[in-house]
Amino acid sequence: MGGVQTMTIALRSEALKAGLLAATLLGGIAFSTAADAQNRNCRNTGNFSRWLADFKAEAVSAGISSRTIASALNGLKFAPEIVRKDRRQGVFSQSFLQFSGRMVAQNRLNIGRKKLRSLARTFAAIKKKYGVPGPVLAAFWGLETDFGANIGNEPTIRSIATLAFDCRRPELFRPQLMDALRIIERGDLTARQMVGAWAGELGQTQFMASEYFRRAVDFDGDGRVDLLRSAPDALASSAALLASYGWRRGEPWVEEVRVPRDMNWAKADLGIKHPRSAWAKAGVFRANGKPLARGNAPAALLLPMGRNGPAFLAYRNFDIYLKWNQSYTYALTAAYFATRLAGAPKVRKGNAAVQHLSGGQIKELQRRLIGLGHDVGGADGTIGRKTRAAVKAVQLKLGLPADSYPTPKLLQALR
Ligand code: CA
Repeated sequence: MGGVQTMTIALRSEALKAGLLAATLLGGIAFSTAADAQNRNCRNTGNFSRWLADFKAEAVSAGISSRTIASALNGLKFAPEIVRKDRRQGVFSQSFLQFSGRMVAQNRLNIGRKKLRSLARTFAAIKKKYGVPGPVLAAFWGLETDFGANIGNEPTIRSIATLAFDCRRPELFRPQLMDALRIIERGDLTARQMVGAWAGELGQTQFMASEYFRRAVDFDGDGRVDLLRSAPDALASSAALLASYGWRRGEPWVEEVRVPRDMNWAKADLGIKHPRSAWAKAGVFRANGKPLARGNAPAALLLPMGRNGPAFLAYRNFDIYLKWNQSYTYALTAAYFATRLAGAPKVRKGNAAVQHLSGGQIKELQRRLIGLGHDVGGADGTIGRKTRAAVKAVQLKLGLPADSYPTPKLLQALR
């Protein structure tokens, strides 16, 4: 298993609604809120078989057949190693260039391009129906499971039941367990076929059971939704999920750009959109140095490594990436990967060398920001959206270029 797919769990909208989770890029499930940080250390005192009997009764009341319940839940054992994995603390402190360089490697690009050609008709049919372009889907497919090569082989029901019993966040996983039974009941998969990543993600683009049951579609026409073995089902289901998040047909997602040596950096913020024409007026050019396309498509200017590093215009469809995965670096990497599959050249390094803080330095910075009253989502060593917002506020206060990216100089100023 690569490390990337297991972060899915933390990130899709249902999890976000539960308000408990955030991204990790190291194969554990991270935590972002104080509540979850606390729950991470909770202790299980109940009895798993009693809990399971209670859940079976609930499944009966929910209308699940006794045959499905028996096939999925009889003899099921609690899996302590799943809880250990779930509570392992991962730290993600790679820069955008480090992470995207690793994830969007040449081999993965080559396979992605080959898949776009060999499945051209499927991708075209999906785009026609859902409006989501092939490169966008192929990039997620490559990042999540290397195009279906690494879907995992952990028994899904055991994983989800364990996490539903565990005291950390049962409210997130109990409904997932019920929806896993509904997938079996519908005839998409048998309990035995249901294997995937250790935290219960299923199939070639790593759907949680509830997404699978509610959003996934049968696209190869065999009458079953099979996200494990059918690439057309997995890709169309991903498109359906993105469409349900609000993907805008025909609009771009991100575009690499060049920024001037100096501008009002405070405008470069995921939360601030301006018409493309306004960015052109501010001195932003296409990556190849040519003028931006005309038009007023709203876009945010993203500087993942600050004012000297790479730069992107993030259009409204980039917001959809953040619903797929709320990690800033994952989302931008997936979006960038899609542009590469759509023909864009390799990302430029930017205007000057960028000094990237170490994980330990980022944690220290976060502790200092917390001390100043900022909400950084916990001192997790990851430069996420909340940390960026806090950095920007401090930069503005100190009269530094407010590009939302922490530098050694900023850390020094806070000491
Ligand atoms: Ca099918």
